[in-house]
Amino acid sequence: MHVLPGGVNSPVRAMRAIGRDPIFIERAAGAEITDVDGNTYVDYVCSWGPMILGHAHPAALEAVSAAAALGTSYGAPTAGEVELAELVASRMAGVDMLRMTSSGTEASMSAIRLARAVTGRETLVKFAGAYHGHVDGLLAQAGSGLATQGVPSSPGVPESAARGTVVVPWNDAAAVRQALADHEVAALLAEPYPANMGLVPPEPGFLELLRELTTDHGALLVFDEVITGFRVSRGGAQELTGVIPDITVLGKILGGGLPAAGYGASVELMSRIAPAGDVYQAGTLSGNPLAVAAGRATLEQLDEEAYVHLAATTEKLAAGLREAAGTRPVQVAWAAGLLTVFFSSEPVCDYAGAIACDADAYGAWCRALLARGVYPPPSQFEAWFPSLAHSPEHVTCTLEAAAAAFAEIA
Ligand SMILES: *Cc1c(COP(=O)(O)O)cnc(C)c1O
Repeated sequence: MHVLPGGVNSPVRAMRAIGRDPIFIERAAGAEITDVDGNTYVDYVCSWGPMILGHAHPAALEAVSAAAALGTSYGAPTAGEVELAELVASRMAGVDMLRMTSSGTEASMSAIRLARAVTGRETLVKFAGAYHGHVDGLLAQAGSGLATQGVPSSPGVPESAARGTVVVPWNDAAAVRQALADHEVAALLAEPYPANMGLVPPEPGFLELLRELTTDHGALLVFDEVITGFRVSRGGAQELTGVIPDITVLGKILGGGLPAAGYGASVELMSRIAPAGDVYQAGTLSGNPLAVAAGRATLEQLDEEAYVHLAATTEKLAAGLREAAGTRPVQVAWAAGLLTVFFSSEPVCDYAGAIACDADAYGAWCRALLARGVYPPPSQFEAWFPSLAHSPEHVTCTLEAAAAAFAEIA
């Protein structure tokens, strides 16, 4: 605790939002995670999304150890990177070419550089409660860990960076119209199924409207599919909804639990990236062979059947959690592989709705779940990430623990 700020290397892990100390992990397998004190939990964080196959999946482990035996990094291209890019392009209509980075933050930072280069404009529009990594210009009302700190942005972000970003409420068509009319916008960024204020799906027609308005105004539509990519369906939210962005940002599942992310677009746009074009972006460990091996092994497991299974598991959990809440008013939102239990009597359709939830009661419920061997996301503003390793038995014992936890905090 004396050598890591807050005891962690990323804020949400500290569990301050639910009023407890961080849990140090020793190991994990499948849907279960074990801490250094020997407590085992059913894990619904799953590394915040990458572990869609569950922990230590044999296919991923085998691919990573085979790659490691050949050397861990070369700083030169490999066939695996080409094959991973082909896999992504075959799944996502918005991606013809892919550039890999090591983190989602880098990928969204690079996507906005490309959008600004292509449009010759600077202003960005983002949604309140949407998180696109800790990029200076994208931290305004950014959801995720910032939401629990109760601050609009962060000290250290230059005012000039913050000024270049217009923040509008999610699901608010009039506000989007206004922002695009009032500013020369380079890019509108959206998590198509926002999951960093808890899961708040788009209202019918909203993503279609974003597509139409950005096209009309000459702005680029950027979908941050770092969470939704390869999770809500084979080809992410763009396949699920049929709304195709100009630039797609990826991460999490793309690296199968190792550090990898990327951004993709049409050949025309991606040809602007160096050295094909003039927009500079680089990375020492980008396309790292271990991460590429884990990503490919993960995507290879994710066929149509996997998504049917993941959706069924998520639906069962969502319905069961709603029932377990009994008389406590909760709103349960879900999509395949994502769900949130909002402690709210009103439907949650934007960030204002999310922050109006009873976060103290949510925290007490989380502590009660942890005491019963269930590891939920330790914040009202993060989604649960069920995986393919969550069995019907895991779901049953989760729902029993949830009912007991609701009873305890009643
Ligand atoms: C996690 C996340 C990021 C940032 O990715 P990192 O790898 O943590 O930098 C960006 N966008 C979304 C939607 C995310 O959930």
